[in-house]
Amino acid sequence: MSFEQLGLSAEVLKAVSEAGYSEPTPIQAQAIPQVLQGRDVLGTAQTGTGKTASFTLPMIDILAAGRPKARMPRSLILEPTRELAAQVAENFEKYGKYHKLSMALLIGGTSMDDQTKKLDRGVDVLIATPGRLLDHFERGRIMMQGIKVLVVDEADRMLDMGFIPDLERICSLLPPSRQTLFFSATMLPEVKRLADKFLTDPVEISV
Ligand code: AMP
Repeated sequence: MSFEQLGLSAEVLKAVSEAGYSEPTPIQAQAIPQVLQGRDVLGTAQTGTGKTASFTLPMIDILAAGRPKARMPRSLILEPTRELAAQVAENFEKYGKYHKLSMALLIGGTSMDDQTKKLDRGVDVLIATPGRLLDHFERGRIMMQGIKVLVVDEADRMLDMGFIPDLERICSLLPPSRQTLFFSATMLPEVKRLADKFLTDPVEISV
């Protein structure tokens, strides 16, 4: 299996090749074509399997193909910790460097004001921890009705950290007609219950 067979754009393939990746990891080979086709995905995968690229690469192409009317965020990636959110943001910039997409990283420990300025200019993607996202939302700084793709990453850690009520609230604010990609290292009953709430007829991938 090669990256060229997955349906990604020439721009993303170029960025992937510059990252030094010669072939997709198993989760990338299985998830990327499904995400590009608009399917929901339930992925059981640990960190280190290449799961970040399995959702960021196709998301970049989905966003680049769309023509937003207003600069409302069109996708949202939720991470349990600041560090993970910052890593995903770095990956997003690396893989998306040949597309003109803008991103806001909404995490604690950095200035709300700087994040708000970025939001006011308009962004395509929000990469956030649940608490900080809701903080901006309560202040009227984010419109969620344009979100077409949602990623819930490291769901089992979200559970351990007590983020389930925040996740359920965020889910209730998003359009029901979105595409959702849900990843967890383990699929314990509590995580599966959450996944059932978020996903519609998902493709299940376990690596
Ligand atoms: P992740 O599981 O997303 O945290 O990725 C783990 C590491 O694998 C990261 O350092 C990535 O840059 C790297 N990586 C992701 N996809 C590939 C690939 N197809 N080939 C080689 N390395 C990769």
